[in-house]
Amino acid sequence: MTTFVWSVDDAGSGGSDMVQAMQQLRRFLEERDQRATWFVVPKWRGEALPAQWKDALLGARDAGHDLQLHGLTHEDCYEFGPPAWPATYISPNFQPDFERRREELLPRYTVEKLQTRIEEGISIFRETLGVDPLLFRAPCGAISKPMFEALKNAGIHYHSVMYLSATGYAHLPHNSGDLRPVWTDEIPHRPFRWYNDVVEIPILGEYTWRGAGKRSAEFVDLARQDVTRIVKESPVAVILMHTHGIADDIEHAFRLIDAVIEQAGSQHDFTTLGGLARSGALDAAATVTGPDLLAI
Ligand SMILES: [Zn+2]
Repeated sequence: MTTFVWSVDDAGSGGSDMVQAMQQLRRFLEERDQRATWFVVPKWRGEALPAQWKDALLGARDAGHDLQLHGLTHEDCYEFGPPAWPATYISPNFQPDFERRREELLPRYTVEKLQTRIEEGISIFRETLGVDPLLFRAPCGAISKPMFEALKNAGIHYHSVMYLSATGYAHLPHNSGDLRPVWTDEIPHRPFRWYNDVVEIPILGEYTWRGAGKRSAEFVDLARQDVTRIVKESPVAVILMHTHGIADDIEHAFRLIDAVIEQAGSQHDFTTLGGLARSGALDAAATVTGPDLLAI
């Protein structure tokens, strides 16, 4: 049996249109007796969580949704490490921009500095949301070895940022447009033990990035193919969405969710990453060790 997770990034960032997208998706999932893991930016661009976000997040928490940490400020795409695939496939300017700013950015990546950021995020979660986060997702997938040491020191043992497939971004104007599923073999296709014994829970893919709704039927088909494959390879499957992607075409997002639920069928179930962490299911699923991939 495979347990599926809806994970939604960038809660806490953006204005009332993003809050509204969150609320609409929340209600849609609740009508199906499902909950999401919301990766929340606790201090977007250095500002305190706005009241409308705080209210929305507390409402979600009280309805059984899962709130987990998504960086601290998310002010650029290099908060916890250098740019990584598939962010570089979504935005080809990340790598050259990073190279230009290398001298400025590299000093960020010390255990001490990253741990301070993570611990500030944890404090905001406790004080503002009444939640003890168990998982971390680095903004834009930008990670580093010191980040894993900092996570462990801060008491966070689960991370979910590595992708199995980037086909969900092939529709962007600078990419191939080819929506046939392609999976990487660089990482295990199931949760794995990684740096500092942190368990990495890979992302299956994203099917609702901006513009995906224009090829909705093809993205639904892509998601169905990925679901069919992942149930043969992993006890846990994490699907990624973004608040801004949902807002871009909410009807597409809803269609996609219902198709995944249908494709998963009754022999598989849906829950949150926090729930899986608490039950021990993530530790139990991480039966393999990940490769040493990070240069920094
Ligand atoms: Zn993000």
